[in-house]
Amino acid sequence: MRVNENYKNLDESYLFSTIAKKVKEFSEHNKDVEIIKLGIGDVTQPLCHAVIEALHSAVEEMGRKETFKGYGPEQGYDFLKEAILSYYDKNNVSLDLDEIFVSDGAKSDLGNILDLFDKDNIVLIPDPVYPVYVDTNIMAGRKIVFIDANENNGFLPMPNNSVKADIIYICSPNNPTGAVYNKEQLSVWVDYAIKNEAVILFDSAYESFIDDKNLPKSIYEVENAKKCAIEFCSFSKTAGFTGTRCGYTVVPNELVFNNSSLNKMWLRRQTTKFNGVSYIVQKGASAVFSEEGQKQIKQNLDYYKRNAKVISDTLDKLGIDYTGGKNSPYIWLKCPNNMNSWDFFDLLLTKIGIVGTPGAGFGNNGKNYFRLTSFNTLEKTQEAMERFYELFK
Ligand code: PLP
Repeated sequence: MRVNENYKNLDESYLFSTIAKKVKEFSEHNKDVEIIKLGIGDVTQPLCHAVIEALHSAVEEMGRKETFKGYGPEQGYDFLKEAILSYYDKNNVSLDLDEIFVSDGAKSDLGNILDLFDKDNIVLIPDPVYPVYVDTNIMAGRKIVFIDANENNGFLPMPNNSVKADIIYICSPNNPTGAVYNKEQLSVWVDYAIKNEAVILFDSAYESFIDDKNLPKSIYEVENAKKCAIEFCSFSKTAGFTGTRCGYTVVPNELVFNNSSLNKMWLRRQTTKFNGVSYIVQKGASAVFSEEGQKQIKQNLDYYKRNAKVISDTLDKLGIDYTGGKNSPYIWLKCPNNMNSWDFFDLLLTKIGIVGTPGAGFGNNGKNYFRLTSFNTLEKTQEAMERFYELFK
């Protein structure tokens, strides 16, 4: 038996363990300091009432002989897919029911989709980036070409026509930078992908944070995107499902490469290797799209957005450069005095008891940047940013 040697090429993931270790050490020696975490990448507000009601009633159904459900369709129940379809419809994107695949979250699908592609494809990934795109391709032994996201391009890199790529990752609104592509920029990417016969893997896990009506929530708002893009979406950040687990992936029927339909291949892959998301969770997820559900998740999203504004207002007052904070739960700031992101991490922790995430953990271009998130409480975010202001004013 031989193991997959590609795993040896993965970098150890030291980021969150190193942060936890440093925080533990500091708090042991400074028991009087209240540490505030603005590095949280997880939601903190509970599931909304409409979802809880739907979950309860689905549990009741599972306990009665007449309404009990066994295996469901691997690609998701129609009631949820129809709700997703009408959500897209509201954004003027029309999809067919068989183009939607329900899953246990975007992370699994982002990893699993690679089953459809040959190992010898060239993968284009922005730097800095959500590390899952990089690691899943390293595991498969694929060649990665990085594209710089930096101050000069507002952390929104555009294609370089002299670089040939087959699989392109785009995350908008972006984790970690909070930057969001507009339609014109995405349409340049779509044209590039079509010209290169490439596929775009578009991660829209944070689309529900977009308030600006001019910014696209879905890549399919761009003409011809159905010819080249797969879209990954999630209830995690939209509706607090990080622990409940549900997401969906759109694989348009128009995606045909070398006479192979990616939609049919993905259906075959999912029906072979996946047995669907639980009926109970899908009922909860469909309640997100009800009138009540939409109002209630908006309250939670508005809460996080208000925190983001507390952070970005403070940075504005201090004249510190950043991206994100609007249309995104993330604020990506330039470390003052060109500090390295780990030194900046230590400074914030030891001087004011604030924890964030060093940009170096997301790629080389993050080494002088720092990610703050809006997922803590309003009170703690305000307190943290008061301390931050006092330190840097
Ligand atoms: N995509 C991005 C960019 C993320 O930041 C995350 C989670 O933090 C995910 C996908 C994973 O989402 P899910 O919880 O649906 O697996």
